[in-house]
Amino acid sequence: MYCSKCGAYINEDATICMNCGCETDAGKQKQEMNGIKETENNLKFIFGIVFIVILITTIFFFFS
Ligand SMILES: [Zn+2]
Repeated sequence: MYCSKCGAYINEDATICMNCGCETDAGKQKQEMNGIKETENNLKFIFGIVFIVILITTIFFFFS
């Protein structure tokens, strides 16, 4: 593919242009995918905390 800024030829899976250093479309897509993964991890983290809180509450309820 070709750089959208300077028009230089760049590798299909290159994330930045070797000529001008600007981010390629492939690089932007990879960043978006990383963003989705981060959101998924954050959700898992929140669900994990909620699960632990429910577990502790349940145990506390049973032993009180
Ligand atoms: Zn370029």
